[in-house]
Formats: sequence, structure tokens, C-alpha cells
Amino acid sequence: MKDTYLTPGPSELYFTVPDHIKIALNQQIGSISHRSQEFKDIFEQTAKNLRALMEIPDDFYIAFTGSANEIFERIIQNCVEKHSFHFINGAFSEKFYTFSVALKKDAHKVNATWGTAFNMQNIEISEETELIALTLNETSTGVTLPSKDIALLREKYPDKLIALDAVSAVPNSKIDFSQIDTTFFSVQKAFGLPAGLGVWIFNEKCLQKANFLQKKGINIGTYHSLPELAKRAKTFQTPETPNVLGIYLLGKIAEDMLRKGIETIRTETRYKATLIYHFLESQNELKPFVRDKNLRSQTVIVINLASENAEMYIEKLKKQGVILSTGYGKYKKSQLRIANFPTHSKEIFERLVDSL
Ligand SMILES: *Cc1c(COP(=O)(O)O)cnc(C)c1O
Repeated sequence: MKDTYLTPGPSELYFTVPDHIKIALNQQIGSISHRSQEFKDIFEQTAKNLRALMEIPDDFYIAFTGSANEIFERIIQNCVEKHSFHFINGAFSEKFYTFSVALKKDAHKVNATWGTAFNMQNIEISEETELIALTLNETSTGVTLPSKDIALLREKYPDKLIALDAVSAVPNSKIDFSQIDTTFFSVQKAFGLPAGLGVWIFNEKCLQKANFLQKKGINIGTYHSLPELAKRAKTFQTPETPNVLGIYLLGKIAEDMLRKGIETIRTETRYKATLIYHFLESQNELKPFVRDKNLRSQTVIVINLASENAEMYIEKLKKQGVILSTGYGKYKKSQLRIANFPTHSKEIFERLVDSL
């Protein structure tokens, strides 16, 4: 029997991926020119399906990169001359911050204890800050950023760019694009695709900032600068030879999710998350790491173990064909992380709860 990956990423492939790969091979997708009409049609269709699925407004650009890590770097290069400000509540938001430091910016930060909320009312962001970096779903801690926090920042700092890391949150979480300037994700999390593709969504304000920096003589990078990506995206192209197969598959999976219905996906996600959180509340051995119910991620569930025996649980579940993740970093031995993505069935979650 095949294993089921409940790991946060890479994760179980969306169940239609094998069929789409077969069709892609038959259509020789791997050999077509990225300057051909055939490729432009693929790009256009994928962008169109993503717009429909995630309700991305027409005035936001959609571009493709190699990963979300790459987008961390590109956002800093293209949208920050000197000052970025980072809300850090786990390992991924921390990494975004360290990239800004490495790129020689004045990176400022506020830390929330892992698994808890930011004290938003008391956080002051300096006048000189150009960009605020947020993480919608901290995959390392299973903590989610309340939409009221984003709204508060938008209201308080209307002129600053707001960047939202949405990896592992979308398509389940609905993004209010009026509250942000750029967002991004990679496909090996909730979209259930092989890794190697990042999706960068940005508005005109980000593009203008990059143009401004470039005119000032600041290095904004080369082929994946915002002006290059935006110029090419207008004709459904990419600056480089891209991951054509990945872009094709993303379009197909978005189409499958649209056919199923995003509301159905959200309802199922909620059901599965409730199932596991209820179970965690009902016994004493395993506890949700995130205490505050309103902060608990629906898509990445982090469990505190009674002792440092994560490996024992992982081995036990593996024997039953279910692959889980350990905790992140210092919680490697004392936590489990479980992904709840669209391809994970209710049945597998019911089985998981029984086994745990
Ligand atoms: C996985 C993840 C990333 C990094 O994605 P890559 O595709 O590996 O670059 C960034 N942010 C969050 C929240 C993630 O879960």
C-alpha cells in the first residue's frame, strides 16, 4: 500500500496530479519553447485559474519563481531601499528577516513567543520603514495571523508596503487583497504539487517601488526583478526558461479545485481540523501547541507531546502508512506537525485520530 504524506511540505500530491503528468507527457510539455504560443496559453490559463480560485484582483500581477525562499529575497531587493520590518512568530518569518539582514538592509523586527499572538496595539513601526513582512500561517508553529492584525497594520500604516507570506495557508485562507501589496506561496504545500515553483503576486505599488530603486542606481537583481517579471507577465511569458511543467500542473490543480468548489474545500478543511483539535482536547497525552483557539492553524496542526518521543509516534504511524512530521527546530523531539491540505481525505484524518 502507498504511504499517505501528512507532512506540511512536500506533502501528499493532489490526487489528480499523476493523471495530469501523464497528459503533459503526451502533449510533450517538457519540450515546447517558452516563447511559443502554446506556453503563453498555459501561463494565461494558470494565471486565470489562480485569479478565480484565490480571488486575485486584475490589478495584481502574477509571476513565477523557483521557490518561496526566492521571493523572500526578491521582495527585499525590489521593495526595500533601507528599512524592512518583520513580524517573527516562527522559523519562516525569521528566515525572511535574516534575508533582509544578509542583503545589508536595516531589518527591524518584533518577536512573538512561538505559538502565541503579537501584541499588536503596542507595536510601533518607525516612520522610515518601507515594508512590513507578515506570515499568514507559520508552518513551524501552527500559528495563524488573525486578519484583524493585518487590517490594523494597513489602517495604521497606509503608505508602507505590506508583504504577506501565504505559503501553507492558501488556497484555504481567503486573502483580502485590499489589505496587502504583495503575497506569495510555493506549490508543494497545500496545492499538493512537486516542489520547484513559487508564485509571486504583487501590485503596481511594488512595481513602482522597484522602478524607483532601479532609477536611483540600487541593485534590484536581474532576471527576476519586478520590472522584468511584470513586463514578461503582460504577454504571459517569463524572463528565463521556467518550470513549464510546474506552471501547467498548477493551472490544472487550480482548475480541479475550482470544479470542486473552494467553499467545499474550506468546509472540509474546517471539518478535518475540528476533528483533530477535538481529539487533542479530549485526552491528556497530546495537546495542541497553540493554546488560543483563534490562533490555531487549520492547515498545519502542531501537537505537543507528553515527552520527547516524536520519533516513536512517527515510526508507529509509518507502519500504518501515514507519514507525519516532527516539530521544527528546538521542538523536533517534543512535537508533531500534521498537514491538513485539500487532498487529505476525511477518512485519513479519522484513521489518524484512531491511531494516535
Ligand atoms: C515552506 C514555507 C516557506 C518556504 O518555501 P520554499 O518553497 O521551500 O521556499 C516559506 N514560508 C512558509 C510559511 C512556508 O511554510
